[in-house]
Amino acid sequence: MIMLSISPIPAFSDNYIWCVAHNGEAIIVDPGDAAPVLKHLEHHQLKLSAILITHHHYDHVDGIASLCERYPQTPVYGPQNHCPNITQRLSHGQTISLFDCNIDVIAVPGHTLDHIAYYVSDNTPNPLLFCGDTLFAGGCGRLFEGTAEQMLTSLRLISALPANTAVYCAHEYTLSNLHFANSVEPENEQLQQRIQQAKQRRADGLPTVPSELALELLTNPFLRTGKNTVQASVIAHSELKCWKEKDIFASLRKWKDDF
Ligand SMILES: [Zn+2]
Repeated sequence: MIMLSISPIPAFSDNYIWCVAHNGEAIIVDPGDAAPVLKHLEHHQLKLSAILITHHHYDHVDGIASLCERYPQTPVYGPQNHCPNITQRLSHGQTISLFDCNIDVIAVPGHTLDHIAYYVSDNTPNPLLFCGDTLFAGGCGRLFEGTAEQMLTSLRLISALPANTAVYCAHEYTLSNLHFANSVEPENEQLQQRIQQAKQRRADGLPTVPSELALELLTNPFLRTGKNTVQASVIAHSELKCWKEKDIFASLRKWKDDF
């Protein structure tokens, strides 16, 4: 069993760049900005040993070049297409090994077509998922490139992971996501509790992430489009006549976009 120390490095207005540290070394996930990462590494006396990239958006990749200048030869893992400065291009089903942990690559298209997630299932007390802008605490990423059906399939893959998986997403969007979730499922008691807890954490200046997958399954409407409560709410809001779960999901996403 390896004890990893995982910290969010705040960047821009609401991004989290994740730092996974062990024995004086660090893996950095989605460095959109190099400056706060360099500061964090220096402050904690960590050496950069690898960079993981989930997708090509600037707020996830723009810090790669400066970090590699400061730490030459750093391996940069990322998707097959679009991202600059990737040294190891990955595909769904591949496994890489870092810090004696196996990290599985899961393709999760939807937010972008190249989007991948990193799943650490062994050698840690509970599984870890670094999912970029796919699953958020209480919500999911916008559909910039993929279809609703692709995103639904990606979220189903994530939903099937062990319930005690810790979900490390890349933005602090939780309170606004939960505010929307409350419009969809106003009678969901676990959701009410979660809103209170999230408000308290933000009031205390703390991040609301990571979250546990079990809690997402109970409170995140984008993982609950198979539930009667979410379906009834979406049908009432969107005046859907003939529908399948993918239509419910698409209407729910549209509802959130306009919220
Ligand atoms: Zn993005």
